[in-house]
Amino acid sequence: MTKKERVTVLARFNLLKGFEDIYPPEVFIWQWIETKAKEHFNLYNYEEIKLPIVESTDLFTRGIGEGTDIVEKEMYSFQDKSGRLLTLRPEGTASMVRCYVENNLFNRPSPQKFFYYGPMFRYERPQKGRQRQFYQIGAEALGIDNPAIEAEMLLMLSRLLKTLGLNSLNIEINSIGCDDCRPQYKKELRSFFEDKKSHLCVDCNRRYESNPLRILDCKVTNCIESRQGVPVLAQFLCPNCSRHYSALKGFLDEFQLRYVQNDNLVRGLDYYTRTTFEITTEALGAQKAVCAGGRYDRLVEQFGGPSTPAVGFAIGVERIVALLKDNYKEAQRESVFIAIIDEKAEKKAHKIAEDLRDKGIVVSVNFGKGSLKNQLRKADRLNSSHVIILGEEELSRDKLSWKNLRNHTQGEGKIDEFLTNIEVKA
Ligand code: ATP
Ligand code: MG
Repeated sequence: MTKKERVTVLARFNLLKGFEDIYPPEVFIWQWIETKAKEHFNLYNYEEIKLPIVESTDLFTRGIGEGTDIVEKEMYSFQDKSGRLLTLRPEGTASMVRCYVENNLFNRPSPQKFFYYGPMFRYERPQKGRQRQFYQIGAEALGIDNPAIEAEMLLMLSRLLKTLGLNSLNIEINSIGCDDCRPQYKKELRSFFEDKKSHLCVDCNRRYESNPLRILDCKVTNCIESRQGVPVLAQFLCPNCSRHYSALKGFLDEFQLRYVQNDNLVRGLDYYTRTTFEITTEALGAQKAVCAGGRYDRLVEQFGGPSTPAVGFAIGVERIVALLKDNYKEAQRESVFIAIIDEKAEKKAHKIAEDLRDKGIVVSVNFGKGSLKNQLRKADRLNSSHVIILGEEELSRDKLSWKNLRNHTQGEGKIDEFLTNIEVKA
């Protein structure tokens, strides 16, 4: 294929805008985050749940809410061959609740704590920290009314983020009330913004009617300016919501978990009630939330299940990776590389490799021909700790030569002795 033909072919099969390939070495950071997240969820007794990537469009329209950014603008929806309207999931909570109701999981002893991990799809304008396919790690706890569960979740998140080396993130919290107190606040908001409508953006003019709370988290400058002096939701909370919010803060204080109260934290999804929270950073520019969540006490019932309080969050994995990229030291996964100087040694090399794998040691055998120099370069790229060198001469004496690439020692010895004595950190 000529260079020109190659360029034409590549252009035809280009990666779609807003989608990413993730490959080594960056993928090691991903694996590390996934492993640590699972370890932490396990520590707090969250169990994994694997949910489908495609669901019927209705699930999200109903669950997330008609007037939300996701449902209005961001869904990847399509018709399948039998004309059903389907959507690539934009988030995990709606599917989780569907699964909970459909499988009668509410009959099991409560609380039930689940976590999920996987790709989500939103048709957004791709930019730094915002893709059309992105990964979320999320957790949900169902059946618990007590604000101690929100506190436990924030403790778990904070422990996880610290383990990942992210110590200076902000926890922002708010309460957006319930069906008893929120309607009154919405009324107040509408009358506050009534004479400011001409300053609000097109979206906020729509939100004025559908859900005026959303005007509070609009990022458009005019809308931010119009919010000066806006009534604060905390003052409109009913006694139950107010008690819930105070109790949550009491828990966080007890554990000395630092947080800020953000009166404008209303979140983009319709299903939230009472507690909302976000974990944010100043290091990522405009896309500053690395995790977001809240309570959704009405959703299970809305999907046909019994009234069940619930709370959950989702971490945006790309944004965590972006924070770790500069500081992450490549995983020190040690391994052995077997260089073959003489083709006759090939079978023996694979035999030694299998013996090493029996001991749990990661091994690569060189494939094909290549100078020793070339093979040592490969070993280096694979972060090998040891190189075994096999040539005709070594074989005839049942010996091998080895190099320790960590402490730069080398030697030779009987194959059996080497296999007995080698120690490699896994
Ligand atoms: P944002 O305000 O950034 O659009 P959101 O409120 O839409 O976020 P959620 O639906 O709560 O986000 O999703 C939880 C987390 O998932 C976000 O805090 C973020 O880290 C991540 N996330 C959301 N959308 C994207 C995206 N398009 N690309 C990358 N990460 C995303
Ligand atoms: Mg969004």
